Amino acid sequence: MEDDHNSRAAPPVPPVDQLGRPLRDLRISVMDRCNFRCPYCMPEATYHEAFRFLGPKERLDFDEIEQVARMAAALGVTKIRLTGGEPLLRPGLPDLVRRLSVLPGIDDVALTTNGVLLPRFAPALRQAGLRRVTVSLDSPDPAVFAHMSGGRGDLSAVLKGIDAACAAGFEGGVKINTVVQRGVNDAGVPDILARFRHTGVTVRLIEYMDVGNRNGWARTDIVPSSELRARIAARWPLEPLPPRYRGEVARRYRYVDGAGEIGFVSSVSEPFCGMCARARLSSDGKLYTCLFATTGTDLRALLRAQAHDDDTGQRLRAVLSRIWRHRADRYSEERTRQPEFPASGEEISRREKIEMHYIGG
Ligand code: SAM
Ligand code: SF4
Ligand code: SF4
Repeated sequence: MEDDHNSRAAPPVPPVDQLGRPLRDLRISVMDRCNFRCPYCMPEATYHEAFRFLGPKERLDFDEIEQVARMAAALGVTKIRLTGGEPLLRPGLPDLVRRLSVLPGIDDVALTTNGVLLPRFAPALRQAGLRRVTVSLDSPDPAVFAHMSGGRGDLSAVLKGIDAACAAGFEGGVKINTVVQRGVNDAGVPDILARFRHTGVTVRLIEYMDVGNRNGWARTDIVPSSELRARIAARWPLEPLPPRYRGEVARRYRYVDGAGEIGFVSSVSEPFCGMCARARLSSDGKLYTCLFATTGTDLRALLRAQAHDDDTGQRLRAVLSRIWRHRADRYSEERTRQPEFPASGEEISRREKIEMHYIGG
């Protein structure tokens, strides 16, 4: 029987989607607000004083997030990443980490942050069971950094945040995310790499993506990973490493001289939809099955309509299972396969997509 909002029994086996992909990762956006205004994510022109962000009651509370995560884990999710907006702006985040990290089936809870608040929270997050931290850092040059954080970020505060994360001793380590934009910060990539060679901190170089519709993305703004890799290898020879698990998003390389490893996330030039096992939960409880989705499913309505009902969990599980089994998303592959790929964004890129700060990067 087709499971839907009214059925009680979810299928006994974990669901796979229309392309045979299992559900493994859940990204949870805990906060749509941010203390930065990176032009590629939340350009100030849109996210100004008058922009209406979610109010506290509109966001899922920790009980609701935990309920969704528990059911997602029952369907196969093993990894959870907390993100935003800026997740450390969400009051009490270590408490949420503590609840999620003990859920049956969850073996990895991670965080992506701009790092500014890490000196305050890193020890508590570590104690609460957070395994891994990724800090976004686009440039080690103060002026470029200021530009890429929309004039709100302070480079030294982020560097202190990275130090605090390293000192806290997260079991799964600390990574850096660097979004590379041609002519903006690509010349500084070697400086970032030089800074973190020999430190055990892995830098992941991310192709600038056409997430949302407000960042003015153009194809010519990206630096394909192959080009970047060739530039880097000319200075520090690299060799590829095998993926650590099926569906790993970053292609890993190690410095031949033993200085550590780096990763390339090439969703524009080498899309990896075929392995994508990721769902996303927005801070107001919509579930999305692709970063480039145009619509999501409102789980908050379900959670709140069924409050205090013992069957809510089973209903939620059935809905999640149905959503996943109907999933056929492969946006990045469709974008890349388009024969015409004009310089300033093609047809598919102009769809009304959900914004990154809201859906969670
Ligand atoms: N505020 C946190 C941070 O910046 O780490 C977490 C949320 S942010 C949306 C998550 C990640 O998405 C960051 O590493 C950010 O650089 C990346 N990101 C945002 N917009 C992007 C874009 N248009 N293309 C590629 N990556 C992007
Ligand atoms: Fe904020 Fe992160 Fe988006 Fe920058 S990338 S505006 S820090 S949510
Ligand atoms: Fe997954 Fe969508 Fe990204 Fe493809 S485009 S890898 S389906 S999130």
